[in-house]
Amino acid sequence: MLTNAPRGTKDILPDTVGEWNYVESKIRELCGRYGFEEIRTPVFEHTELFHRGIGEGTDVVDKEMYTFKDRGDRSITLRPENTASAVRAYLQNKLYGDSSLVKLFYIGSMFRYDRPQAGRMREFHQFGVEALGEENPMVDAEVIMVAIDFLRSLGLKDLKLSLNSVGCPHCRPKYREVLQDYFRDKLDDLCDDCKDRFERSPLRILDCKADADKPYMADAPKITDCLCDECQEHFHKVQQYLTDAGIEFELDPRLVRGLDYYTKTAFEIKYAPLGAQSAVAGGGRYDGLIEEIGGKPTPAVGFATGLERVLLALEKQNLLPEMDKKTDAYVVALGDAAQGPAFKLLTQLRQAGLKAGMDYAGRSMKAQMKQANKANARFALIIGEDEVKESCVMLKDMEKSEQQKVSFDTIIEKLCAEVKG
Ligand SMILES: [Zn+2]
Ligand SMILES: [Zn+2]
Repeated sequence: MLTNAPRGTKDILPDTVGEWNYVESKIRELCGRYGFEEIRTPVFEHTELFHRGIGEGTDVVDKEMYTFKDRGDRSITLRPENTASAVRAYLQNKLYGDSSLVKLFYIGSMFRYDRPQAGRMREFHQFGVEALGEENPMVDAEVIMVAIDFLRSLGLKDLKLSLNSVGCPHCRPKYREVLQDYFRDKLDDLCDDCKDRFERSPLRILDCKADADKPYMADAPKITDCLCDECQEHFHKVQQYLTDAGIEFELDPRLVRGLDYYTKTAFEIKYAPLGAQSAVAGGGRYDGLIEEIGGKPTPAVGFATGLERVLLALEKQNLLPEMDKKTDAYVVALGDAAQGPAFKLLTQLRQAGLKAGMDYAGRSMKAQMKQANKANARFALIIGEDEVKESCVMLKDMEKSEQQKVSFDTIIEKLCAEVKG
């Protein structure tokens, strides 16, 4: 047990951390281009924030949160997602200031007690954006474009964007009724969860995995037939902006969100080669959330994407770049007298900005040259007792297999010129 990480967690080891850094650098570059600024919120928050911000009655809140009492008897929860925290930070720090639109992005660990499977961990990582303070459908389109652009910039093709509108507090109650009327005589046939959802949150019956293939599901009334004029107009414009931007999508009337603070646009991006785990990003508008958390009514839209799944997709398609593990110079010290001067040289190399390494185990020449090869060294700097006496090193070019004596005085300058061109 002591040497096993908890179930559903994973070490990111040195040989794969480069892949994470690669994806994260893409995110930062992309968000910079779209004008989203990074925010880092605490990994834990007051439990109440998620009860309000995600909603009781959801699987996340009811079954999946890591909640505990801290030593001050406060109920604390490890964040299961980042939207509620971002909104909390937005309100607490008055980020709204005098501008109408605040655009944030985040990268970080989230925690859900769920059954672990490929691409789905208990500690998992998300990248997401939140655009707060603007109802213009251009912002919806922009947020969707960030998601698409992100996945495309990594080389993923054949992405499928599904789009829907889930209405607003004016038009959704009518749809709820229409939906309840439709499912009332089918209630016995639905799964137990859906029997529960029928009163509380009938929209969620539409995205139930257990009932998805029931014959009457496809004919369920569509929310887009019940939208009010404002929602209709907004939805139409989002589609128009996406079309103008050359982004293909398909309408999916069953893409719904059960909670009241979700409004208008809902979207999901799938990547089919991932099979059952094919949803790689999802998001939408949540004009009711900020008020729910205690702010003034504020329109907002965002998305989140699971980075484990994205990396899984990149791995499957061989889209991860070769990680550069080069060392500029490897110092090889032979004999006791060489140790001190070798270490001093190593320090000087690093101070000059070069990537340099050395073997500390006092092994044979052959063993140390093997280490130099393993480190992918461009040059080996060999120092034995003779070199110490002559104040020089034997500089070996590992690519050309040539070697020459170079004095201590000029070696740093010479290597800098060679390596940095
Ligand atoms: Zn509406
Ligand atoms: Zn069901």
